[in-house]
Amino acid sequence: MLLHQARAQVVDYCRRMTRDHLTVGTSGNVSIREGDLIALSPSGVDYDELTPQAICVVGLDGTQVDGDLKPSTEVPMHLVVYANTDAQAVVHCHPVYATALGLVASEVPLAHYMLAPCGGAVQVVPYALFGTAELASAVEAAMAGRNAVLLRNHGATTWGASIKAAYTAAVYLEWVCQVYLAARPAGSPALLSEDQFADAAAAVARYGQGRC
Ligand SMILES: [Zn+2]
Repeated sequence: MLLHQARAQVVDYCRRMTRDHLTVGTSGNVSIREGDLIALSPSGVDYDELTPQAICVVGLDGTQVDGDLKPSTEVPMHLVVYANTDAQAVVHCHPVYATALGLVASEVPLAHYMLAPCGGAVQVVPYALFGTAELASAVEAAMAGRNAVLLRNHGATTWGASIKAAYTAAVYLEWVCQVYLAARPAGSPALLSEDQFADAAAAVARYGQGRC
């Protein structure tokens, strides 16, 4: 079976998304790149029923090369991340607070240094129907210098040098969105300056095992 280890990791991280409340039902999708191939979760399969064999393998042009099931509808969005970055993994999910903030804001501002895995303030891309080239183009336009975007009326997408990094960005992004939304009704939230955030991000990279 092609990409056996990557397919097993996709299964593992899909289940983590549910366990960590980053998505609901069969929504969301995870991919891992190995060379010119991408292991990607299938469309509409209960995560409890996923097996490595059920994971699809597609090329960088989206052509399916292994797996019997139909790949996630968000193939175009995953491909656009791989085409524009050195990312080795992409996580797309529908977390409550990130999705909620995407309804009322144009970006996730520098409210906390735990945005470091996302690379800075995260842009909210305009609404486009899920699975479309239009949505992938909107992501492409907002992703420069970042490891994350929010999708208006939809959810969040993160990426990184490993599936662990991409997933960590999703978890921290959701947490910062929760903190920011909790603060807003109580007053005008204080934000970090670009310099303060850059210093914190550099310290995060040096700290412990590189985690903040
Ligand atoms: Zn989605």
